[in-house]
Amino acid sequence: MNLLRNIPPIHELLNDNRIVVEIKQHNISYEEAKQSLQDSVQSVRDEILNDEFSNFSVDDLFDLIIEKTIKQIEQHKIHNLQPVINGTGTILHTNLGRARLAPQAIDHVVNSASYYSTLEYDITTGKRGSRHDLVEQYITSLTGAESAIVVNNNAAAVYMVLSSFAKNYEAIVSRGELVEIGGSFRVSSIMEESGTTLKEIGTTNKTHLFDYEQAIHNETKMIMKVHTSNFYMSGFTSSVDRKDLANLAHRHNLIYYEDLGSGLLYDLSGQGITDEPIVKDVINKGVDLVSFSVDKLLGGPQAGVIAGKKKYIDTLKKHQLARVLRVDKMTYAALEETLRLTLTNQVEQIPTLRDILKDSNTVQDEVMVFLEELRDFEQLIVEPCEMKSKVGGGTLPEVELDSFGIKVKCQVQTAEQLSQQLRTCSIPIIVRVENDSVMIDFRTLERHEQDEIRKALQELNNRLK
Ligand SMILES: *Cc1c(COP(=O)(O)O)cnc(C)c1O
Repeated sequence: MNLLRNIPPIHELLNDNRIVVEIKQHNISYEEAKQSLQDSVQSVRDEILNDEFSNFSVDDLFDLIIEKTIKQIEQHKIHNLQPVINGTGTILHTNLGRARLAPQAIDHVVNSASYYSTLEYDITTGKRGSRHDLVEQYITSLTGAESAIVVNNNAAAVYMVLSSFAKNYEAIVSRGELVEIGGSFRVSSIMEESGTTLKEIGTTNKTHLFDYEQAIHNETKMIMKVHTSNFYMSGFTSSVDRKDLANLAHRHNLIYYEDLGSGLLYDLSGQGITDEPIVKDVINKGVDLVSFSVDKLLGGPQAGVIAGKKKYIDTLKKHQLARVLRVDKMTYAALEETLRLTLTNQVEQIPTLRDILKDSNTVQDEVMVFLEELRDFEQLIVEPCEMKSKVGGGTLPEVELDSFGIKVKCQVQTAEQLSQQLRTCSIPIIVRVENDSVMIDFRTLERHEQDEIRKALQELNNRLK
């Protein structure tokens, strides 16, 4: 308790030479440094109350606060959005920003953001152009759709389609498809928000064509299918073929719309991804409109695409919501380059796809090289370990990919404590904890990230000596 009374005042800490140097070096303001010091003092205070420094001197305390503060400043704590290393093995981790962009896409973003651009300008005529034209041809080439529009995300796409074509009317959806996706997306809520009345049909496990047919009356405007991946139910289930649904809709002058979720553009069945429909196949079946995310299996920036019949997409382009839900030039830049790489068969340049396609032997080789370079590890036990990666992204929780990584254990600290310390590295390392071991999956790690992890483990080991 004596220590508590001896916590140095902030002004004294601020005048310490190490902090003065830090302020200069990182070009941070006096106020930011003060805030960092206050945070450190608070955390030291908590630690003292937990009796963590029983044999500390007052001088030790001063140094400890300074060290903590410097670490916090160097960790780029000045930004709230920080880069992290994803060792969880979930490729599309929604909490960690889903897809990371291809280097070429990043270059295109930087270029488009540093210069003025042709966002809405036609170079040939010198007159106003349309942002809708920037990526439409890529999408139509890749999907076979007549036309397409880009909006803020797939949730926005669903909202826009419903508001534009079914507001104040009914849309029919199978009960089996009204599930919550990715922890926060509910079709029923978006539908309510859009002013569309939801007509639920069928039972949770079975819906037949006659269920749809019987539900159609003069207030019906749309038949909607929501792709939920069939992992929710296996066995005694059935849903109706999309070709039959499209035909039924057209016989009654209704729009047939599918929310596809992930937006798969080509075959990934070799990777066990068999439940995701390929957009081109869906369009081919006579579907009027589809929508999908761009930052899931496409590996692009956050955005949503609506693709389908030209007459409907033209209506959407003219709708007020097109202005409300439009995306900015940086998103277009990242999307254009991601689509260009896809169209020109360079998907291995797109990190999400590269990581899904990587075979486990390649990952294992990287782990072995990593381990060879670890030296003098007395305090930590680091072992190679088989593991399963997940594709993630909300729609594919059932897909597991064979993978490889390392398992880290320690005699004197729990796995939770180790993982907490890995989160305090200059680039925080996010890991999985399983059976009281830290698990780091190498599938999503680039070489320089592996180097960061090696450095972090080395430091951790030395600290524990
Ligand atoms: C992920 C998903 C959404 C939401 O997409 P966002 O791009 O995250 O807004 C909607 N519908 C389905 C079926 C999805 O899988």
